Amino acid sequence: MKYYGYAGGVLKVDLTTQTVNKEPLDMELARDYLGGMGMNGRLAYDFIKPGIDPLSPDNVLLYSAGPFVGTVIPGAVRTNIMAKSPLTGFIGMSGGGISIGPMLKYAGYDQLVITGRAEKPVYLVITDDKVEIKDAGELWGKDIFQATDEIRDRLGEYWVSCIGPAGEHGAGLASIIDNKNSMHSRTGLGAVAGSKNLKAIAVQGTRGIEVYRRKEFRDMVKELRATVEQSPAIDLWRNEGKIIDFYMGGFKRPAGFSQKEYASRIWKTYYGCIGCPVGDKGVLQVKDGKYDGVTVKVSNPWATPAAFQLAGCTNYDQGVKCVEMGNRLGLDCFTLGHLIPFAQTLYEQGIITREDTGGLELKRDVDTILEIMKHIAYREGVGELLSQGQKALIEKKGEDAYKYGDHIKGLEPMYDMRTGSIVENFGHLTNPRGGHHARSYSITYMPRKSESIRKFCMGIGVPEETLDLVAPRGDWPGNFNLPRLTKWSEDYNSAYYSLGGCDRTPITPAFNLDVLSRLLEITTGMEVSPVEIRTSGERIWTLHRMFNMREGATRKDDMPPYKWMYETLALGEKQLQPIREETIQALLDEYYEERGWDVATGNPTEQKLIELGLNA
Ligand code: SF4
Repeated sequence: MKYYGYAGGVLKVDLTTQTVNKEPLDMELARDYLGGMGMNGRLAYDFIKPGIDPLSPDNVLLYSAGPFVGTVIPGAVRTNIMAKSPLTGFIGMSGGGISIGPMLKYAGYDQLVITGRAEKPVYLVITDDKVEIKDAGELWGKDIFQATDEIRDRLGEYWVSCIGPAGEHGAGLASIIDNKNSMHSRTGLGAVAGSKNLKAIAVQGTRGIEVYRRKEFRDMVKELRATVEQSPAIDLWRNEGKIIDFYMGGFKRPAGFSQKEYASRIWKTYYGCIGCPVGDKGVLQVKDGKYDGVTVKVSNPWATPAAFQLAGCTNYDQGVKCVEMGNRLGLDCFTLGHLIPFAQTLYEQGIITREDTGGLELKRDVDTILEIMKHIAYREGVGELLSQGQKALIEKKGEDAYKYGDHIKGLEPMYDMRTGSIVENFGHLTNPRGGHHARSYSITYMPRKSESIRKFCMGIGVPEETLDLVAPRGDWPGNFNLPRLTKWSEDYNSAYYSLGGCDRTPITPAFNLDVLSRLLEITTGMEVSPVEIRTSGERIWTLHRMFNMREGATRKDDMPPYKWMYETLALGEKQLQPIREETIQALLDEYYEERGWDVATGNPTEQKLIELGLNA
């Protein structure tokens, strides 16, 4: 069979038996689950048995890139990695833009399925049809940059997905980093690779991707690129940290983390994912002082270094140093930005003692942060206590520890609902992977007119009969229904991401369900209507929820951290009020109702499962 858009193959590697199998892509599966997080979700549900230890050979590590990935469609870059998360105990996943996904597709594979555990450290080398499991004895123990460089010295120009010491030692916040700068950092997938004794995957593919109707494809890509290139958001996202002030909504930032400091102290240049005209990722370099010359390539260049503020970094130089260390060790910097201050607070409150920390004083300064990071990666001293994240730490320490924490399903959120009741924030609660904003992109991150919201809703497939409920006419912020719009955004985004799309502001306005449907047809030859794509998104989302239910998740796991509901948040000079527990419960009720799920339990109903073909 000839494949278009899709590469047409699934590569299965069993590390226990050291066997490799190649299977043709099941096009019915592709139609129902599209690719990426959709297809990975289906396999995760089918092959990861409920209740397994995420760090046992029974876990399955999945890579998948959707049908648009590897083509020149702007923003079609996202590769999904998935497994049962050691951090949350639920479905774990992370997407990346400069990931090995396109190269996997050029080698002939839409999906890579890794099972079992090698007896000793190995790395996988995929060169088109040739698949080798090689000894990684000399790579084990090396940081991600060193190991990636060494693999390239041995093999040449391969794309490399790699773990660091944190993954090797089974830290629950271990990341996988592709090509030294695409961070699959959330939900501890690096520890899953480490538990399989898998240091890295190196890929080189030479086949390219064929599209179904070349001329139409070229024309449509040209149109899409023109739309993206005209986006006023490009400048905001790309250059010198203007986004900082935009997102902070006028809140005063500490002097060391101001836009001025960012632009003058550390911003070097921008770069982008393959084929994308936006290029809003950043190369950051400290220009002088203690960390002179420290350089990192970062996807969220203004936000990632700033994540270390609460832990005690006082300026961007220090933040860059922490990010560099985090990337080398293979640690999730966003989780660290919450976990370390949480541990410091528990220490200040006497809940964690010097006995727990192995004598280390948990001070709020950069040297202590760097020390803690090393301990976490190697699971030594205080690192053993912190290495499995906030949820595990709260369980261990009991007392009032939960009051100081801020995780959702074990994953620390990017944003806080007290800063705004918007879809991007509420979506942290309902996201099956835990507290993360991606999957609930909408347009509510800034005030909009009613017509804009209604147009957006129609684009993502909100049915006409529901439109007045989801986007009632009126003034901001009464012109959208938070939980109901969250549901529709999640469904649309699930489909869009599964196809490979990027969710950044300069890209997303170029797409909607009609565009995706047309693009899918001319890229792959599959005729899938806008409504069918929307239904696939809902199916994908619901299946991820079912994975969690099987692991014991309940409605309670959708609740926010205690402090969101009971404490005021001081941000600059503003005091932001808590969102009361009754308000959250009411929002969740409405969300489940919009989903057609059982309101009391938050579980999909049998009728909904039948409707989505998930009842088998
Ligand atoms: S917008 Fe940024 S993150 Fe998205 S594809 Fe383009 S360069 Fe990559």
